Amino acid sequence: MTRIYFAAGARRWADYSTHLPAALAEAGVQAEIVTKAPDPATVDYIVFAPGGDITDFTPFTRARAVLGLWAGVERIVGNRTLTQPLCRMVDQGLTEGMVEWVTGHVLRHHLNLDRWIRGEPGWHQDAPPLARERTVAMLGLGELGAACARTLAGLNFRVLGWSRAPKTLPGIETAHGEAGLQQVLSRAGIVVTLLPATPETENLLDARRLGWLPPGAVVLNPGRGCLIDEAALLAALDAGRLGHATLDVFRTEPLPEDHPFRGHRRVTITPHIAAETRPYSAARVIAENIRRGEAGEPFLHLVDRTRGY
Ligand code: NDP
Repeated sequence: MTRIYFAAGARRWADYSTHLPAALAEAGVQAEIVTKAPDPATVDYIVFAPGGDITDFTPFTRARAVLGLWAGVERIVGNRTLTQPLCRMVDQGLTEGMVEWVTGHVLRHHLNLDRWIRGEPGWHQDAPPLARERTVAMLGLGELGAACARTLAGLNFRVLGWSRAPKTLPGIETAHGEAGLQQVLSRAGIVVTLLPATPETENLLDARRLGWLPPGAVVLNPGRGCLIDEAALLAALDAGRLGHATLDVFRTEPLPEDHPFRGHRRVTITPHIAAETRPYSAARVIAENIRRGEAGEPFLHLVDRTRGY
């Protein structure tokens, strides 16, 4: 019988203890799930999350794959003891959550909702522009970035997408490379960063590139904290060159109480809640990959170790 080691921590097991067995049964996989350190040489698949129960994968000589519960893999991809195939989480619940977070925050800034929520005195009937008059840059056109880009384009926003390799997406103008990034940023009223944390994306939005954004532009970061040079972002916000930053992810999480982002009038903080893996749908993704592994079919959502995502 297939042996699965759920090594993502006891707290998470509470969320998966019903959904994973049900999803495996639905996928037609006969499996035994163990949650307490088994003999590593008996394990066929490892379900993993950062902060979970394994740091050294060397003894898991029989494991056919490590199946992550997180979309981002920066906390495991550099682990040199990991030689097994690594699959990350691509989950419908995660994607829907991200689309809703991004769309909500784009609309907040597009419609300048704060002005009306604050209760501006007087009667100034200056209507906001239409979405078709607003340009949104989407940095990252993967599972999450492409879904957000499609939704925003569906609301008529002019969406400019940027990725590592050239990409074609209906209704979205795309670019890649450094010159492409400059073209995209220099036209963006709102920029969304949905890139993975890799050595190449570290401080992608530094002082120079933030300087390419038009005055008053808004930055939304639901990707990873390291994508933005914090000091450069704060300097641009303090100088009033950028209008606002809405940040879900940070270099240090939880964000320290004395961090200059806290209480900043041009910064909105959400505590890494933009999108969460939903156990009922994520369990199906794990089960499908185990089914594939057992049937000798290629795994879904394999991480490319050389790219780091
Ligand atoms: P994908 O791997 O599907 O997509 C990544 C995208 O980034 C791709 O379009 C890729 O380009 C692009 N990219 C990667 N490196 C570069 C680079 N050096 N230059 C330009 N483009 C680059 O990831 P997802 O869309 O699933 O997720 C994106 C990130 O969102 C995750 O890595 C994670 O950090 C974050 N996240 C945040 C959550 C939250 O709650 N805040 C929840 C889930 C994820 P190409 O298409 O050419 O490969």
